[in-house]
Amino acid sequence: MMCRTRALHGLAVALAVFCGLFVVTPGELTAADDKPRPPNIVFLFCDDLAYQAVSAYGDGRKLLDTPNMDRLAKEGMLFERCLVTNSICGPSRATILTGKYSHKNGFYNNTNSRFDGSQQTFPKLLQAAGYSTAMIGKWHLVSDPTGFDYWHILPGQGLYYNPPMIKNGEKVDHQGYTTDIITDLSIEWLEGRDKSKPFLLMSQHKAPHREWSPALRHLGWDNDRVYPEPATLFDDYSGRSKAVSDHDMGLDRTFTDLDAKFRPAPNLTPEQLAEWNKYYEPRNEAFQKANLTGRDLVRWRYNRYMHDYLGCVKAVDENVGRLLDYLDKNDLADNTLVILTSDQGFYLGEHGWFDKRWIFEESVRSPLLARWPGVTKPGSVNNNLVSLLDFAETFLDVAGLDVPADMQGRSLVPLLKGNTPEDWRKSLYYHYYEYPVPHRVRPHYGVITDRYKLIHYYKPDVDDWELLDREKDPHETKSFYNDPAYADVRQELHAEVERLRTEVDEGEPPREAYGNRPFDFDPSQPNPPANKKGKKKSTD
Ligand code: CA
Repeated sequence: MMCRTRALHGLAVALAVFCGLFVVTPGELTAADDKPRPPNIVFLFCDDLAYQAVSAYGDGRKLLDTPNMDRLAKEGMLFERCLVTNSICGPSRATILTGKYSHKNGFYNNTNSRFDGSQQTFPKLLQAAGYSTAMIGKWHLVSDPTGFDYWHILPGQGLYYNPPMIKNGEKVDHQGYTTDIITDLSIEWLEGRDKSKPFLLMSQHKAPHREWSPALRHLGWDNDRVYPEPATLFDDYSGRSKAVSDHDMGLDRTFTDLDAKFRPAPNLTPEQLAEWNKYYEPRNEAFQKANLTGRDLVRWRYNRYMHDYLGCVKAVDENVGRLLDYLDKNDLADNTLVILTSDQGFYLGEHGWFDKRWIFEESVRSPLLARWPGVTKPGSVNNNLVSLLDFAETFLDVAGLDVPADMQGRSLVPLLKGNTPEDWRKSLYYHYYEYPVPHRVRPHYGVITDRYKLIHYYKPDVDDWELLDREKDPHETKSFYNDPAYADVRQELHAEVERLRTEVDEGEPPREAYGNRPFDFDPSQPNPPANKKGKKKSTD
């Protein structure tokens, strides 16, 4: 669909440049019309940030204090229920850029999907309308970024220390801790940007992704705290589908030497390694001597995991503070929408897990904080069902641009203004595909409402339905699908998931949606088949 605003603006720019007079920006155009300059957009993005680790949310464990993220909640809006549509990294990123489900943007999984950068994205539309656009940090969509005046990204998953990066196509080496570097580069870009234009900055952290390597300054930050355990740390998955119990993402079975820090983070300098070892070595020796098994072993892993994961989040929080300070000191805060969110949630021991993927609450829900001075009431809380699917339309709306009809979300601008439209969604469609590696989470789709979830595990060796009731069972430990008391609810949810499948226009997924491994592939066997390009790729 042609965007009227964009077309008019493009014409104005072309005329101005042709006449050799000056370069027109939307700000100047709208200023002439006596309208304010369109807001800047700062999109602060994390990888695998659990809402449980953000103190503005929390889950009762008081895991971490995040004063800088909390500042966004105090000065803006906290969304209680921002859900993803396919809970892994690449697919969420593709959905954010396009405002479309995986089956429409073509990026289903992290195993063999490649983002088609020729398709419509919101950064392209903002760029065409005169915004300066930058993508800095973790990109993770295989193809090169498009729609950005400047990009400076980690290749693939990237490294936590001394990361090689790619700046507009050229390899650049950096020294230091990646979370700090991504913020340094973001501030550098803000300093040097074309200040006559409004801007979109997407500042995207690698942290706190596995293997959760904290900054050296945060080793030991928690003084060897023993963490409160989640209620479901020792979930036995009884009464649930085989799809749930037969996972490969448990603290009891999947925790590697890198996860446990029995091996150091890759790419440390000798000086960094010495500091790393000073913290981990004595603790690892004590662990070896203790010879833990069973639940004690799981508890040790849980506490090691919390130190490392939360340490990574601590660095992100400090860097959120640095960026907010920069906006303050440069008089940018008042006309800038700041969003803080994550590509999905993450398990911090719930159900005995780390990782994500499932339709269950901890992984399907992203933290979402939004500060928009003069528009969004400070300290407000929104309880509507919103989604990463809504961001593209939101940012176009914020910029005053038309929204293409083929986008599948909905602008959050009315919500940010404190008004929920009467016809706001009451349910959201979800579909996860990637199987069997990594983590052996079987493909499933379903519908999510305020209270219920209906889930269908359908491939390759299961055909199970589950019905969750978060009001009766907030930790999602049982299915009410076969409970006669739920017959009406079950029928309604079946009708709703079918309605949504029609609405989002999803048919039978292609085989490649699930990745390129055989469904019976066993990663413990030697010589696994290579992927299409013949090179090993991190798929987490
Ligand atoms: Ca992720």
